[in-house]
Order: sequence, then structure tokens, then C-alpha cells
Amino acid sequence: MTSVEALEAVLSVPPAVVGVVLATGLGFFLGWRAWQRCPHCGWLVRRVTEGWRRCRVCGRQYRRGLRVR
Ligand SMILES: [Zn+2]
Repeated sequence: MTSVEALEAVLSVPPAVVGVVLATGLGFFLGWRAWQRCPHCGWLVRRVTEGWRRCRVCGRQYRRGLRVR
């Protein structure tokens, strides 16, 4: 495949598909910022912005930047 053919292949993708891909990437990026792993059990929990939160799976508290395991 030449570079021109590759460019034509990219340009032939429907704009809707590009929009879905961008929205998925943006959503994943925002989700990655809003969630974190529980430092105790590894469960997906809300990211702490300030103070402490309690994991609903293991019941232990965690805070921003805490590294236990
Ligand atoms: Zn936990």
C-alpha cells in the first residue's frame, strides 16, 4: 500500500465513525481520570480529590496517591 492509498483509506472512513472513535477515546480518558484502583483489593473505585473515601468492597479507607500493595 502506498502512502496515497493509505491516505485515501483514511479519508474514506465515514465521519460518524471518526466521531465515535473520538468520543470513545475522550470518554475513556475522562473515565481514567475519575476512577482509580482500590489500593487494598484492586477494585475500581472513585478517585479521591480530597480527604478519604471508603472502598465498598473491602471496606477499608483509601486516599489520593495511597500505595499499599
Ligand atoms: Zn478495596
